[in-house]
Amino acid sequence: MKTLIIAEKPSLAKNICAAIAPAPKWVAGKSKNSGHWENDDYIVTYAFGHLLQLNDAEDYNEDYKKWDVDTLPIIPPSFQYKQSGDAGAKAQLRLIKSLIDRKDVDRVVNAGDSDREGEIIIRNIFDYAKCKKPAYRLWMPDQTPKTIKAELAAMKLDSNYDNLANEGYARTYIDWLYGINLTRLATKKANTLLRVGRVTSPIVAIICERERAIRNFVPVKYYVAVHEDEDIKLTSKHKRDKKADCDQQCKDYNAAVTKVEDIKKSKKVFPRPKLFALSDLQGAAGKAFKFTPKQTLDVLQKLYEDGYCSYPRTNSRYMAVAEKKKAADIIAAIQGALGTTGIGFRDSKDIFDDSKIESHSAITPTYKIPNLAALPADQQKLYNLILNRFCAAFCVEEYSADRTEMTIGNGLEAFKLTGDVIITKGYTVFEPAGKKDGTLPNLAVGDIIKTKFASVEKETTPPDHFSAETLNAYLKNPYSKDEQKNLSEDEEAAEVISEVELGTEATRAGLIDGAIKSGYITLSKNKYGITDQGEYYVDSLARLGIDMTKERTLNLSKSLKAVFKGQRTVESVVRDAESDLRDICVFGSQQTDAEKPTVQKGDNGTMDKKVLCKCPVCGKNIVESPKAWGCEDRDCGCVIFKEDKFFERQQKKMTATMAKSLFNKGYVDVEGLVSARTGKAYNARVKVTFPEGSPRYPKYELDFENFKKK
Ligand SMILES: [Zn+2]
Repeated sequence: MKTLIIAEKPSLAKNICAAIAPAPKWVAGKSKNSGHWENDDYIVTYAFGHLLQLNDAEDYNEDYKKWDVDTLPIIPPSFQYKQSGDAGAKAQLRLIKSLIDRKDVDRVVNAGDSDREGEIIIRNIFDYAKCKKPAYRLWMPDQTPKTIKAELAAMKLDSNYDNLANEGYARTYIDWLYGINLTRLATKKANTLLRVGRVTSPIVAIICERERAIRNFVPVKYYVAVHEDEDIKLTSKHKRDKKADCDQQCKDYNAAVTKVEDIKKSKKVFPRPKLFALSDLQGAAGKAFKFTPKQTLDVLQKLYEDGYCSYPRTNSRYMAVAEKKKAADIIAAIQGALGTTGIGFRDSKDIFDDSKIESHSAITPTYKIPNLAALPADQQKLYNLILNRFCAAFCVEEYSADRTEMTIGNGLEAFKLTGDVIITKGYTVFEPAGKKDGTLPNLAVGDIIKTKFASVEKETTPPDHFSAETLNAYLKNPYSKDEQKNLSEDEEAAEVISEVELGTEATRAGLIDGAIKSGYITLSKNKYGITDQGEYYVDSLARLGIDMTKERTLNLSKSLKAVFKGQRTVESVVRDAESDLRDICVFGSQQTDAEKPTVQKGDNGTMDKKVLCKCPVCGKNIVESPKAWGCEDRDCGCVIFKEDKFFERQQKKMTATMAKSLFNKGYVDVEGLVSARTGKAYNARVKVTFPEGSPRYPKYELDFENFKKK
C-alpha cells in the first residue's frame, strides 16, 4: 500500500521527492502542469495554493447578485467551498481526488505550508474528495532534504492540528462576513467602491491619522541654552518660549563655575541581537534596501523554497531547544562553505527558548549554503541580512566597551554625558551596532570648564511618516505604552493585549499591498502616505459607523486565540460576528447616501484631474484634487494644500493662482495677510520650498523686502 502526500505547491512537492529514496518517478497528468510522482511506497502530488475558495454571496442565493443594503447582513446557513482558479487548477484538483480514491492508497498526508492557512488548504481538498482514509501531517520547519526525511519519519495524525485548523476556519469565515457585508454597505452608501476588511481598514485608518497629524502640525519655536567647544557640548534640559528668558539663563550659567563633579567608569557588555522574526526582517530590509514588506516576503519565500532559509512566516525570535544540534550543523556549514570565523555554538536562553515560540522558530539560514554570487541581487541582499544576523547571534566574542559617565555641574543644572571606548567588537563585525555613544574628552574630577552658553533657536518637529519598520511595530502591538498601562489594571485585558496584533506575520504584507493597489495608501522610499481616495475611505466608514478600529480587532483576536486554545468553538465565534454585523448594518443603512464623490478613480488607478502647471521638482504635471494641488507622480509627492495652516493662520485662503505662482516662481506676493499676534494687516512675499521627503510638503517663509504690489 502507498502513502499519498499532497503538497501546497509544486516546488514543495519537488523538495519532498528529493528527500525520498528511491526517487519517485514523474507521471504526467492529462492537463499541462498537472501530474504526480510515484515509487513503491509514496505518491507525491501538489495543489497550486488555493484550489478551493469560499462561495461568493450569490452562490448561496441568486438574489445577492444585486448589491442591496436591505439584504444585509448576508449570512450563509453554512459556509461552503467551491473550486477556484483556472482550468489547469481544476484539472489538478480532479487528479488529486482520483489519487485519493485509488485502492492502493491507504493513507494521505497533509503537506500544506506549516501554518494555519496551509493546514486548511489541504484539509479543504480532503473534504472536497470526501476522503475517509487516515490523514497525517507533514510539518516542516524548513525544506532541506534532511529535515523532510526526519519529519516524514515522525509524522503525527492530522487531527493533532485540529485547533490550528479551527482557528484558520474561524478567521476565514469572519473575514468573509465582515468583508462581504461591510464592503457592500459602505459601497452602496458612499456611491463608490470601498473595500472594507478586518485588518485593511485599521491599516488605512492609522496611516490617515498620522498623515493628518503631520499636515496639521504647526511648528513652535523654542530656545535652549547650549555650550559647545571642540571638546564638549552641553545642552540644557530647559526649553524657553522667549529668547530673552533663554539669554538670561545663558548669562547666569556663564557666570557660574562649571566643573567636572563626578566620573564613573564601568565595563559594559552589549547583548547580541536576537534572531529575526518576519516583521523584524521586513523592517531591517526596508531600512537597508527600501524593500517593501511584500517584496521582502516574496524574496524570502524564494530562498525558503530553494532550501536556503527556514520557514518565513514566523513571529518568533527564538529557536526550539530541540534545534540545538541543527544550529551547530548550520554553523559548521557556514564555516565550511564561507570560511566565516568568530562564530561558534552558544547554548543560550537568548537563542533557544521553547516558551517564546508559537508555531515556528526564528528565520535562520539552513545547512544548505547558496553560491552567493549566483543568487539574484535581491536574494543575495536578503540572504546576507539573515546570515549576518545568525552569525551575530552566534558570535563567540562579546561586544564590550569601557563606559564613562561624566557629570558636569554649575550649581544650577547637572549635565550627564556618557561615552564608550570599544574594547572588543563582538557581533558588530557582522552587523552594525544600534545607537552609539560618542567619545568623551580627557577630563578629571574638579577640572573647570570655561563655558560660553548661547541661546539656540529650535523648532518642534512633526511626527514621522510610518516606515515598514514602524508600521510593522504598530501592527504587532497597536496599543501605546499609556494605553497598555491603563488596560493592564484589568488582568484579562492585559494578557490579551500582550498577544493582540493586527493581522499576522503571514498576512500583513499582502494586506498592506492590497491597500496600496486599491489606491488608499502609498509607499514610497520606505514611507507610507495616504491618498485622497484613502481619506475619503476613512471618512466614509466613520460616517457610516463602520468602526473597524483596533478595539474590534482586539476582541476578534481574543476570540480567535480562544479557538486556537480549544476554549471556544468556531460556531460560537462566528455567531458573535454575525450579531455584531446585524447591529452595524442596521445603523449604517439608516445613514443618508453620499453624493457621488468628487474623487473618482480613472481606469489606470489615477485620479482624473485638472492640470494646473508643471511640477517644480520633477517636471511632471501638477493636478488638482479636492484638497490640494499636487504632483501626479506619487513618488515625487510635491504638494500645496487648499486649506493650508500657514495661510489659514494669516486669514488667507489659498487660490489656484497663488498655488500656480508658488509652483512656478517659488513665491507669491500676498496683500492683506493678518498677523495672528497683533491682528494687523500687512503685505508680504511668501516664499516656498519643498523639502526632500515623501511626500514633499511645502515650507513657507515670509520675505518683506522683496514684496511687489501687482
Ligand atoms: Zn513632481
